[in-house]
Amino acid sequence: MGPLQIKEILQTAPENQSVVVKGWVRTKRESKNAIFIALNDGSTIHNIQAVAEPGQFSAELLLTITTGSCLKVTGLLVPSLGSGQTVEVKITDIEVYGTADPEEYPLQPKKHSLEFLREIAHLRPRTNTFSAILRIRHALAFAVHQYFNDNGFFYLHTPVITASDAEGAGEMFRVTTLDLNNLPRTEEGAINFKEDFFGREANLTVSGQLEGELGAMALSKIYTFGPTFRAENSNTTRHLAEFWMIEPEMAFFELKDNMDLAEDFVKKVITYALTNCKDDLNFLQNRLTEEEKNKPQNERSLPLLEKLAFVVDNPFERLTYTEAIEILLKSKPQKEGKFQFPVTGWGIDLSSEHERYLVEKHFKKPVILTNYPREIKSFYMKLDEDGKTVRAMDVLFPGIGEIIGGSQREENYEKLLGRVKEIGIDPENLWWYLETRKFGTAPHSGFGLGFERLVQFVTGMGNIRDVIPFPRYPKSAEF
Ligand code: ATP
Ligand code: MN
Repeated sequence: MGPLQIKEILQTAPENQSVVVKGWVRTKRESKNAIFIALNDGSTIHNIQAVAEPGQFSAELLLTITTGSCLKVTGLLVPSLGSGQTVEVKITDIEVYGTADPEEYPLQPKKHSLEFLREIAHLRPRTNTFSAILRIRHALAFAVHQYFNDNGFFYLHTPVITASDAEGAGEMFRVTTLDLNNLPRTEEGAINFKEDFFGREANLTVSGQLEGELGAMALSKIYTFGPTFRAENSNTTRHLAEFWMIEPEMAFFELKDNMDLAEDFVKKVITYALTNCKDDLNFLQNRLTEEEKNKPQNERSLPLLEKLAFVVDNPFERLTYTEAIEILLKSKPQKEGKFQFPVTGWGIDLSSEHERYLVEKHFKKPVILTNYPREIKSFYMKLDEDGKTVRAMDVLFPGIGEIIGGSQREENYEKLLGRVKEIGIDPENLWWYLETRKFGTAPHSGFGLGFERLVQFVTGMGNIRDVIPFPRYPKSAEF
């Protein structure tokens, strides 16, 4: 449909026929015998080379063809004599759609830092690196829907605006139409949210899980895949204020089923990318190798494709939180005082240095940690028989840390109500959630996967801000 794209022309167009190519100029090179224009339209990492003869076009026209300008080129597709491409276009006609003044256009054919590119997020999709990332991101999103569809899950659209502050107390973005300069007050002087749009306080969602559970109690297997918001002021390479979360929720799944699903799911979507994004992954692999070439051998990471294949081919290590603490207590960095937060004993919340030690140094593969102390996990997780731990599971990945957080849910009404009160949530606010435990409750489980962390892992990008088109983080919401 529509004009042929460069990917199609390179793959399927017959030689010695006339083609029309539309795209943005990556480079223009002039030699004695010819003018070479590399065009890219984002359909593939590969450029198509268009060749003109000197004198064929006016100097005036040629001057307007610079990096970043947009062209329509008509010509004959012929076998290429140069190395690097099998075909090229022998130009018969050029139409310049849009120029890009080289004095102003910031994307010149040289290496730009990722930090600089973040400042021009409106243009960075035109670079090889970002177009590759965006194509891989698309493929992964497609694979997510395909996986769930093939496995009997229904896509449930959970709300973006929520009035339950059950989970993320203090980390939520407020949604309001009140006039901030003239707030309605109650007689006691507090802000009167009865006058707000929803007649109560409202926020952007931090997770679709609670509503996801409502869906699972009717459709058995559902998943959500939508934008998620956290106002946490964490300036890390793994946190965004707006990110996309995938949250399957399954009736009749116990913790083991949940772990099996999580492992199979990530392996399948990574496999999809390995099969369908070869050229882009190869490009990113070379980019990483280049980036690391000044590091000593033992500090270099596995080549990207090997790393991905390794994760797909090997079972994840599964162990309990209690076992992990024992390993950490006996570990070298613990004994040598190298952890920034030393492991003081059972009950501590693991920090990312601990998680990364387990994954990167001890087991050297993805790890699923289970059965955490109840105090450090959410109220809805099912209590174990010992009364001390809950049926939680975190999937930890090399270079990323936590990529998935999930659990078997507490399905017992009394126990859940007890936990709700214990952590100080008014049960009135969660009446609808609690009712699922009153009416036909069932064992069920689910998890949340941060989509950008998955894209980070697959692309090998170090900063999560570089795997979403227009990142939102503290003090930044341009574009
Ligand atoms: P972390 O400890 O890394 O902040 P979390 O425990 O807050 O994660 P959950 O609430 O369990 O995470 O959310 C489920 C998943 O969502 C996480 O495993 C992670 O992949 C992703 N995630 C959480 N917070 C963010 C964020 N701010 N930006 C991007 N992804 C996130
Ligand atoms: Mn968090």
